[in-house]
Amino acid sequence: MSRPVKYIFVTGGVVSSLGKGIAAASIGRLLKSRGFNVTILKLDPYLNVDPGTMSPYQHGEVYVTDDGVETDLDLGHYERFIHTNMTADNNHTAGQIYETVIKRERKGDYLGKTVQVIPHITDEIKRRILKVGETKNYDAVFVEVGGTIGDIEGQPFMEAIRQFILDQGRENTMIIHLTLIPYLSHSGEMKTKPTQHSVMKLREIGLQPDMLLCRTDRPLENSDREKIALFCSVSPEMVIEARDENTIYQIPLSYQKYAVGEKVCRRLGLPERESDLKGWKKFVHKVKNPTHYIRIGICGKYTELKDSYKSIIEAFVHAGVDNDAKVELKWLDSEEITLDNAAKFFTDISGLLVPGGFGERGSEGKIAAINYARKNNVPYFGICLGLQCAIIEFARHVCGLKNANSTEFNEKTPHPVIDLMETQIDVTEMGGTMRLGAWDCKLEKDSKAYAAYGKTMIAERHRHRYEVNNSYVSLLKENGLRIAGTNPDSGLVEVIELPEHLWFVGVQYHPELKSRVLDTHPLFRDFVSAAIQHKMNLIELDFDDVDADHPCS
Ligand code: GLN
Repeated sequence: MSRPVKYIFVTGGVVSSLGKGIAAASIGRLLKSRGFNVTILKLDPYLNVDPGTMSPYQHGEVYVTDDGVETDLDLGHYERFIHTNMTADNNHTAGQIYETVIKRERKGDYLGKTVQVIPHITDEIKRRILKVGETKNYDAVFVEVGGTIGDIEGQPFMEAIRQFILDQGRENTMIIHLTLIPYLSHSGEMKTKPTQHSVMKLREIGLQPDMLLCRTDRPLENSDREKIALFCSVSPEMVIEARDENTIYQIPLSYQKYAVGEKVCRRLGLPERESDLKGWKKFVHKVKNPTHYIRIGICGKYTELKDSYKSIIEAFVHAGVDNDAKVELKWLDSEEITLDNAAKFFTDISGLLVPGGFGERGSEGKIAAINYARKNNVPYFGICLGLQCAIIEFARHVCGLKNANSTEFNEKTPHPVIDLMETQIDVTEMGGTMRLGAWDCKLEKDSKAYAAYGKTMIAERHRHRYEVNNSYVSLLKENGLRIAGTNPDSGLVEVIELPEHLWFVGVQYHPELKSRVLDTHPLFRDFVSAAIQHKMNLIELDFDDVDADHPCS
């Protein structure tokens, strides 16, 4: 008989945004480092079917998987930490669950019964959790529950977990609760009461946590640990101090200090194994001890909303490590940049990235920034909309196509160099209808992209409706633009470059989604390296100037 799959539920209390996703991913890494095969799934209690139609202000980045689903950004943390590809089975929303049950009801599958939250919704939740554990050969499945304990819409999920634990047995399941221990400066005390209340709330539903991860900004005193343990019915060794860290990648190492991996294995009866975190430790050491400092400008629309660019930010951390550098990101507000003032935004950056985005707002600023980067040999990396804006810039200023544009920004443009994809013309529904997921791309040998990847066939993840209009491709090429990568089946343009430029690469896909700790995305790695090169070149130029001023020195 095969050994039972272990299920670890990660819940959150007191306040949201405590980092449940990173906590789950970190403990996942600790099990993975012991050679266990793990995955993580996220249950989101909101009624949207997926986050694809939500505003970035509501939801942050939409993370796209290889199999083309639009998911919660926590799935990005899971992939970056545990190096397991996520799929449609790793993110379930209340919207999807209700949709499935209601469709079944319409088909008459419930044979006249009243359809209810218990058992029909809870059964569907349990079925989805179990499916992940049963389909692949996982030793352990983490289940992160979105929201905070006590949320009304989270209740069916909590009830389903209570039943799931009964079905699978306590010995095969555990609950890790992430909580906050606030410090009150006026009384100079750490307060454990919110944690006690949040655990009380869990226990009201019939869930007893096995481990508490206590977020604090200072050390957790033993007396507090014991108090929490007593009031929450958890053994003191299972009350873990989870201090704020400068880098999220330190968190698995901090948990390791408190033997979290070992304690989880012991609690679940997983065999005791050595853990290997050597590579991870080296990576974190490099994050903390860079040799170079480099600043990259990111010109997007949501400059105040860093969660919208989560994977890009992390990809730069990974790429920094490969280049022994700390990459500092400077957020450029695309609505402030024009062709006339662009130079002033470049005084302290060594590279420019224009990320993905939607809608016309800020597009002219992005085009102006790209114009400056192109003309001044500043390394440029265009992602999705960033490729499309680079095409518009090139068409207008190099090919002489005045008012060239994307039909997304101006439907009446005389030169629609970026246009709606054939397959998108009849699309009327917004949710899940873009070109999504992994698509093949064939790279031209001798291109910068080929130099980065080291192979001609790649597959990268997409999320867009518009594309380079192939009727302009020959004109773009005649004027010096290189089509460095195309989709072998459709001929769609996937990668563009300027061969004469130090590093100017635009991609129609989202490479940031595949960058991982100890497996940096090659384009981010090479872009950062080009930015360092550019910075060095400028320093050399400055030295030359000094020499010219003082010829005898
Ligand atoms: N808005 C553009 C499109 O739909 C680009 C999308 C993106 O950058 N993800 O094609």
